[in-house]
Amino acid sequence: MSGPEPDMEPQQRSPLLEVKGNIELKRPLAKAASRLPLSGRRLKRGPDQMEEALEPEKKRTRGLGTRVTTTHPRAAALSSVPQTQGQTAAVPRAPRKSAPRCSMAVAPVLKTQKPGPVVPAQKPGTTAAPPMVGGKKPKRPAWDLKGQLCDLNAELKCYRERKQVLDQENQQLQDQLREAQQQASALGAERRTLEEELTRVRAQAEQGQRELGNLSARVLELEERLGTQEGLVQELQQEQLRLQEERRGLAAQLGEQERRLQTSEASLSDSQAEVASLRQEAAAREAVLAEREDRLHGLEMERRRLHNQLQELKGNIRVFCRVRPVLPGESTPSPGFLQFPSGPCGPSDPPTRLSLSRSDERRGTLSGAPAAPTRHDFSFDRVFPPGSGQDEVFEEISMLVQSALDGYPVCIFAYGQTGSGKTFTMEGGPGGDPRLEGLIPRALRHLFSVAQELRGQGWTYSFVASYVEIYNETVRDLLATGARKGQGGECEIRRAGPGSEELTVTNARYVPVSCEREVEALLHLARQNRAVARTAQNERSSRSHSVFQLQISGEHAGRGLQCAAPLSLVDLAGSERLDPGLALGPGERERLRETQAINSSLSTLGLVIMALSNKESHVPYRNSKLTYLLQNSLGGSAKMLMFVNISPLEENVSESLNSLRFASKVNQCVIGTAQANKK
Ligand code: ADP
Ligand code: MG
Repeated sequence: MSGPEPDMEPQQRSPLLEVKGNIELKRPLAKAASRLPLSGRRLKRGPDQMEEALEPEKKRTRGLGTRVTTTHPRAAALSSVPQTQGQTAAVPRAPRKSAPRCSMAVAPVLKTQKPGPVVPAQKPGTTAAPPMVGGKKPKRPAWDLKGQLCDLNAELKCYRERKQVLDQENQQLQDQLREAQQQASALGAERRTLEEELTRVRAQAEQGQRELGNLSARVLELEERLGTQEGLVQELQQEQLRLQEERRGLAAQLGEQERRLQTSEASLSDSQAEVASLRQEAAAREAVLAEREDRLHGLEMERRRLHNQLQELKGNIRVFCRVRPVLPGESTPSPGFLQFPSGPCGPSDPPTRLSLSRSDERRGTLSGAPAAPTRHDFSFDRVFPPGSGQDEVFEEISMLVQSALDGYPVCIFAYGQTGSGKTFTMEGGPGGDPRLEGLIPRALRHLFSVAQELRGQGWTYSFVASYVEIYNETVRDLLATGARKGQGGECEIRRAGPGSEELTVTNARYVPVSCEREVEALLHLARQNRAVARTAQNERSSRSHSVFQLQISGEHAGRGLQCAAPLSLVDLAGSERLDPGLALGPGERERLRETQAINSSLSTLGLVIMALSNKESHVPYRNSKLTYLLQNSLGGSAKMLMFVNISPLEENVSESLNSLRFASKVNQCVIGTAQANKK
C-alpha cells in the first residue's frame, strides 16, 4: 500500500490527484482561457488568420470531446483524465509535497465511485494501516491505537479542509468551464458570422474582380481613345498652326481692306453729297413728271374726244366695199366689168368709187347688135379692189377699233352673197398664213397692244369674248365644248339683269382673253363647231350670221375713271336670193325657209339703221335676233362699219348689184351727233 508514488505517475495517477493537479493548474487554465480569440480586436483579422487562430482552440475542444457538453461536466472532466494523459503530461505537475498524506487516503474514497483501471485492488483489512508519507514518518506501534486514531482524526480533518478547498476549486472550475463553453458558443457564432462574412467578402472579391476586369477593359478602351484623341490633338495643333498662318494672311488682307474702306468711305461721302443733289434733282423731275402725267392724261382725254369727233366726222356709219380676186378656175370677167375710178387727187388717192357694167341681154338694139352695157356707179367711204391685202383693209379700221377702247361701241359687218369673201375678211384665209389673217385676230391683237400702252398711263383693260351664230332665228354657241359641242343647245338673248341695258346670251360661253393665242384657240373652236353642224345639203355657215363679240372694260384706278363697250364683228349670212325659177323640192323648200329668215333679218338690219338714222322713236330691234343681239352696238354713240363684199365674176353681177344697192342705202345713213359727214 505504501508503494512509491512516483511509480503511479504518469500512467496510474488517481483521478483525485488529477483533480488536484487541475486545481493547481487553475491559473494556467485561466490564462489559457484569456488567450481565447474572444476579443473584438481579433474579429478584425482576415478569414485565414481567424482560421489559424481558431485552430488550436478547435483542437482543444476536440480533445475535450463530446463529453464537455454532457450534463455532468465535472464528472466528465474527471473521467476524462485517463484519456487525456498526453495533455495532462504537458500540464505542470502540482508539487506533491503540499499534501503527501492525503494522496493515499483519498484513493479508497474515490475507488468507490469508479475504480481506475490502473489502481490495483486492495486486500480487505489493509485500510487500517498507517499512512505512508514519503516513508519518513515513524510508524506508530500497533498497540498505539489512540495515537493512530489521533493521526487518523488529524488526517480526516486535513482531508475535510482539503475537500472544502477542492469543492471551492471545483466550483471555480465549473464556472470556468461554463465560461469557456459560452466563449466556445460565442466563438462558434462568431465563426459562422465570420464565415458568412468571408463568403460575402469572397463574393465581393469576385465582384471586385469582375469590376476590375471591366475597368481594365475600360482602361484599355480609354487608352485607345486617348491615343485617338492625342492624334486628334496633334491634327488640331497642326490645324491651329495653319489657321494661325491663315489668320496672319487675313490680318494682312484686313489691313488692305481697311485701307480700301477708308478710300471708299471718302468716295462714299462724295457720292452721298452727289446723291443728295441727285435726289433734289429727282424730286424736281418727279414734280415735272407728275405735271407731265397730268398733261398727258389731259391730252389722252383730248385725243379720245378728237378721235371720236374724227370718227363721227368720218361717219358713225361707214361702208367699205371690198371686191375679192378671181379665184383659180373661175372665168375671168370681161375687161371693164368692174372699174375703180381714182379720186379727185389722182391714183394716189385711196379709191372710194366703183363702177359695174352690166350688159342686159333682154335689151337689144334695132340693128340686132347687143345693147351697150349699163354702167352702175357706187361711192363708198372706201373701196378695196381685188388686190388689196388684209393689212391694208385693217389699217382703215384700226382707228375704229381704237374707239372701242375709248368706250364707244363698235360694230363691223360683212355683207354680201355667199362666196364673196365675207369670212375671208372677218376671220382670214385658209392655212393659218399670217398675211391672210382677218379682221377679228388683227383687231384683237391691236386692242391688246394698245391696252398695254395705256397701262403706262394708268389704264387697265379686260376682255371677254363670245361667239354665237344665228341660224333660222335661233342662237347657238360657237364656243360650246364637251357634250354641247356641235349641237350647242339653244341659247336665248336676255337682259343681264332687271333694268340692265346689257344683253347676254344664255348657255353661251363668255371667255376672258388676254392674248392672241387665246383668240386663235377660240376661232379654231368656232370653226370646229361649224364643221360639226354642217349638213350634206347645206353649207350652213353661209346661211347663218356669225357674231363675235368682245366686251371691253377699262379702268383708271388713279383717277377713278371707267369705260366699257362691246366690239362686235359680224359675218352675215349670204345675201343671195333664191332663184324663183327653181323647182321646189324638199331641199329647196328648206332652203327657201332659210333664205326668207336671212332676208328678213338683213332687211330688219337695214330698217334698224334707217330708223336710227332718221331718229325714229321706234327702232325695230326686236324684229330679228340679229338686231336684238346687236342693239347696244348700234345707235347712239356707236360706230358702225359695213363691208360690202363683192364677187368679181360677171355671173354674180345681179347679186353684186343687190349688195351694192343695199350698202349704198346704209351708206346714206347718219347716226349720232356727227353731222359734218353729209352724204
Ligand atoms: P363668204 O364667206 O362670203 O361665203 P369666203 O370668205 O368663204 O366667202 O370666200 C370664198 C372663197 O374666196 C374662199 O376660198 C376665200 O379664200 C376666197 N377669197 C375671198 N376673198 C379673198 C381675197 N380677198 N383674196 C383671196 N381670196 C379670197
Ligand atoms: Mg362665209
